[in-house]
Amino acid sequence: MEDVVMRGDRLIIPEKLQHRVIQCAHDGHPGMSVMKRRLRQKVWWPKIDEQVEKCVKDCNACTIVSATGPPEPMLRSRMPTRAWSDVAIDFLGPLPSGHNLLVMVDYFSRFAEVIVMKQITADLTIKALFETFSRFGIPEVMRSDNGPQFTSESLRKFCREYGIVQQKTTPYWPQANGEVERMNNTILKRLRISEELNSSDWKWDLRNFLLMYNSTPHSVTGVAPSALMFGRILRDKLPSVQESTDLLTESIRDRDWEKKVTTAESEDKRRRAKSNDLKEGDIVVTKRIAKDNKLSSNFGHEQFEIVKRSGTDAELKSLETGKKYHRNVTHLKQVNRGAEPHEDDTSFEELSSDITESLVPSNEATRLRERREQKQPSYLRDYVTAIECNDK
Ligand SMILES: [Zn+2]
Repeated sequence: MEDVVMRGDRLIIPEKLQHRVIQCAHDGHPGMSVMKRRLRQKVWWPKIDEQVEKCVKDCNACTIVSATGPPEPMLRSRMPTRAWSDVAIDFLGPLPSGHNLLVMVDYFSRFAEVIVMKQITADLTIKALFETFSRFGIPEVMRSDNGPQFTSESLRKFCREYGIVQQKTTPYWPQANGEVERMNNTILKRLRISEELNSSDWKWDLRNFLLMYNSTPHSVTGVAPSALMFGRILRDKLPSVQESTDLLTESIRDRDWEKKVTTAESEDKRRRAKSNDLKEGDIVVTKRIAKDNKLSSNFGHEQFEIVKRSGTDAELKSLETGKKYHRNVTHLKQVNRGAEPHEDDTSFEELSSDITESLVPSNEATRLRERREQKQPSYLRDYVTAIECNDK
């Protein structure tokens, strides 16, 4: 090997090779910040960031799919203490090809694994899971939504046998399974890029993306998922001198937890969530999941009593039919017992601001947002009162 110039533990790339390195770092079409993080891990040269920005802007596929993604979901789960002990799983699909993707994300390392499946029966799902578990070990906790494969008796039996605690998220509240939801969105974006480029092999592109993702420092932990998962950074096309990785998992955990708490707090503040006050015995209406049309109200008319509350999950009993349901508390709005469930009834005090805004026609909601610090128009006073209540 010829002499190399280093900056810290990063290679300084000579000018004639810079373009090539940038191209390698764009493999898998990471976004701008991911690409910068990816490069910073291994290499450096002057004005590297500018070149990254130009590269992403010049990439047609990236530009086309660059529509803003959904906001990062809130996640208040406790950070697990080691890799692959707390895993989220979900299906993505069916894709146009008829395939489904079984997506798994480890909450500790953020390591992601994807299995391409033609059929997704409960038994085939168990086989696919076990194949992965045979490589990485049996997780202690497995989170999923209530999809039929995940609630099947055979999966329950499998989990019991292998000592896996199954945690299911509340219906219509996929954000609770946040890590894997985020991953699904990211993967969908890659598949769209693949489609845009008329790629003949989306599975190859998907693997390429996973290699890129797993070997790039994660935005929350600041460390590559593979480093936390295996204690090493996966080798990819980017040149590197790193041979071993010193991992201070303690400090990573602290950093993660801090970030999670601050994010959740500011998010709560932003949404001015007040749903936390709902308790057993309260009478509520529930948010409509699918609206019949744009003019349908946001909440159904049927009233429910909260019979049990644990965390964000509430068990509801219909006052009309006596049937029981589970809903996330943020989808509930309290009503006074016997009150006429009018959608613009201003006696509702426990409104979170997004609900408040959804009650106001959208152009007015925008104005309301803009004017929150200014004098409020009188017709909005009731809504504003509700928001102010929530500040306390
Ligand atoms: Zn691209």
